[in-house]
Amino acid sequence: MMDDTFSEIFTGNFTQQEPIPEAAIEAAVAVLRSGRLHRYNVVPGEAGEVALLEQEFAAAMGARYCLAVASGGYALGCALRALDLAPGAPVLTNAFTLAPVPGAIAAVGARPVFVEVTEDLVIDLDHLDHVAGESGATVLMLSHMRGHICDMDRLLEIAGRHGLRVIEDCAHTMGAAWAGRLSGRDGVIGCYSTQTYKHMNSGEGGLIVTDDPDLMARMILLSGSYMLYPRHLAGPEPAQFDGLKYDTPNVSGRMDNLRAAILRPQIATLPHRIARWNALYARLEAGLAGTPGLRLIPRPQAEAYVGSSFQFLLPGWEAARIEALVARAAARGVELKWFGAAEPAGFTSRYDSWRYAPGPRLAQTDRVLAGLLDLRLPLTFTLADVDQIARIIDAEARR
Ligand SMILES: *Cc1c(COP(=O)(O)O)cnc(C)c1O
Repeated sequence: MMDDTFSEIFTGNFTQQEPIPEAAIEAAVAVLRSGRLHRYNVVPGEAGEVALLEQEFAAAMGARYCLAVASGGYALGCALRALDLAPGAPVLTNAFTLAPVPGAIAAVGARPVFVEVTEDLVIDLDHLDHVAGESGATVLMLSHMRGHICDMDRLLEIAGRHGLRVIEDCAHTMGAAWAGRLSGRDGVIGCYSTQTYKHMNSGEGGLIVTDDPDLMARMILLSGSYMLYPRHLAGPEPAQFDGLKYDTPNVSGRMDNLRAAILRPQIATLPHRIARWNALYARLEAGLAGTPGLRLIPRPQAEAYVGSSFQFLLPGWEAARIEALVARAAARGVELKWFGAAEPAGFTSRYDSWRYAPGPRLAQTDRVLAGLLDLRLPLTFTLADVDQIARIIDAEARR
């Protein structure tokens, strides 16, 4: 065992997801055989895979309405566009998020205004309260980045007081909950991604839920429904479109029947997959609990998270020391993403990498990101894999 401390090498693949379930493969092949891949290309009596997916996902989320679209980023942009913002309008969002979030805000001609992140990797609610008042923003694009959910009750209180409409970016929280409420259901609109690295896998794809008939009618038209909106099974009554259909641009971004066929069988398997992710997460957490200088992220009682990725902090570590740790871990097969590197790499860009959205330096966010490490936990990993990953990180952090 002692011999292994600095020699064992992890050979798993951090980007390898599980195969698509057989039922989904069969459904996908049936769509391919039919030739009817476009969502509105249906024969009499046929609903189409996309309409059925929307109906089933709405039911799973307890939402009145659902729309499937081309990607999670498209979902965010579609939600923002439905809110009809003035050009240059400020939109609050997390300083710690993924590039498609500020990208969606910029793409509708609005202006991202970043809010600090806390050491627990959630939006800083005191800073939110302050910036909401100062910026005059009417929209908050709340990103549950890497699956960390802030105190949603307090967030809703702040949003209510400032008249903020909340769009939830649930790319990492599909199936998660706060105080028993499913992620994506507290805001006026909830957006999800079904891109390969998220909680359901169709390669690319997005889902949007809301209870608001006006917003859903707008989003259906925006997504490129033409005048075929009555074919939606999880949309409002056709009369809801009367006042909108001549004034809403078609910003084409539909989902197709092939992707929907791949996704439908995955909805029912989500709870089981969440349990497996959380078992991996808990094991890694236990494996790193005694590592000196390493801070684990506390998970509040009210948060039912999905542990599809894992983060930890190395507070106060010099950049060179973190860089060396990342290199040594990589040499032993453990891929750690570091949010504090001088240059963005892979998926780890930061608020100051998004120069189309200039803003003040955020000292607290800078400090948190400087010590933030991140790794994926694909379901192809076993508990023994995770034990080994923990041993390698622990050994290298002690050097
Ligand atoms: C992946 C992701 C998105 C965008 O999803 P895509 O489907 O890749 O466009 C948005 N926000 C976060 C936090 C993400 O991780």
